[in-house]
Amino acid sequence: MAKRGEVSLGIKDILGKLTIEDIPIQGKRVFIRADFNVPLDDNLVITDDSRIRSTLPTINYAIDEGAKVILASHLGRPKGKVEPRFSLAPIVKRLHRLLNKEVVFAPDCVGPQAESLVAKMKDGDVLLLENLRFHPEEEKNDENFAKALARLADFYVNDAFGAAHRAHASTSGITRFLPSAAGFLMKKEIEYLKGVVENPVRPFVAILGGAKVSGKIGVLENLADKVDKVIVGGGMAYTFIKAMGYEIGDSLVETEMFDLAKSIMEKLRKNNVKFYLPVDSVVAQSIEAGAETKIVTTQEIPRGWRALDIGPASVKLFSEALQSAKTIIWNGPMGVFEIDAFSRGTYAIAHSVADAYALTIVGGGDTDYAVHKAGVSDAITFISTGGGASLQLLEGKDLPGISALSDKK
Ligand code: AMP
Repeated sequence: MAKRGEVSLGIKDILGKLTIEDIPIQGKRVFIRADFNVPLDDNLVITDDSRIRSTLPTINYAIDEGAKVILASHLGRPKGKVEPRFSLAPIVKRLHRLLNKEVVFAPDCVGPQAESLVAKMKDGDVLLLENLRFHPEEEKNDENFAKALARLADFYVNDAFGAAHRAHASTSGITRFLPSAAGFLMKKEIEYLKGVVENPVRPFVAILGGAKVSGKIGVLENLADKVDKVIVGGGMAYTFIKAMGYEIGDSLVETEMFDLAKSIMEKLRKNNVKFYLPVDSVVAQSIEAGAETKIVTTQEIPRGWRALDIGPASVKLFSEALQSAKTIIWNGPMGVFEIDAFSRGTYAIAHSVADAYALTIVGGGDTDYAVHKAGVSDAITFISTGGGASLQLLEGKDLPGISALSDKK
């Protein structure tokens, strides 16, 4: 039976690190590094609390075990200065509501006041520390700052997958001073983005999109040995199309990536990986709402026009290629989906992914937003909470926030 907060993918310990269930936290102070870096509107109201919700299993487990729960996170980029608009104060209220429990707020994440608030905690109490990045030492992974954080606790738990690609004091340095374990969310992210990717049920299809080839080349290179099909849409597709000798008008292109694009296509061909590019596009003369648009085949992108979304024939082609998939991973929009006129391709693919009889994994902020906006997020098996971190994992690289945790004996 899967334990609480666990997914049962049948994958044996892909993490290799201690998890929160392996450490004796009853009656102890536990420092949980969470990712509460949520979007706020101008009135500092949280517009999407999914990152907070996704870490609740870890927090609730620690409360239920009778630990003294100390929560820490960054929010935004205050660049080492105290900036009220990046305060974690709005998170206190939301946590209070979600946990149905009092949450005490420490106005600084280190120092005598934080220490005295911790000293007053009873088993099962929750304390939230103010933004870690109000101190420049956090991003510098400063040893003394890491020590000051560690002084607050007996154990360290990292559940901040979204920050795991950064070696900061609260994600890396602190682990030198405390026994360190992964939270449930961290474990789940690794199980999907590493475990499933390395042991997929086939056919395994990767859909990549977004602006540039250069941003996804590492992912493509790593996945080229693992997938059965690759579908490329978005701005990055046109560098491939141009490298194949087609005219692409004024579409986005990275000429310096031609050689790499060609060698990737060659590698995919050799590996017998099916490779799909858009066969048609929505084109316009400018990236503006209200611009005149037309649908043209890939062979007929006119001069002076740029391809800003995949066209209906590409949607059909890509959706058909997804039909047989048993595992799908999707990162990056199919067009400039922020503008209505160029959003149809992305939303249509969101529906096709959601409708597939497959285990589906979505990563990256834009793609996450797109599946929510398309109203299909509930039909996706797993939506990663990390942008940069998920890309780095898909590139086959280790994440410093995970490497730093204590090894499972
Ligand atoms: P990325 O951060 O690389 O995943 O890129 C996401 C961005 O790519 C989004 O803001 C899209 O507007 C943009 N994008 C997607 N398709 C195109 C395209 N055909 N031309 C220009 N930009 C695009």
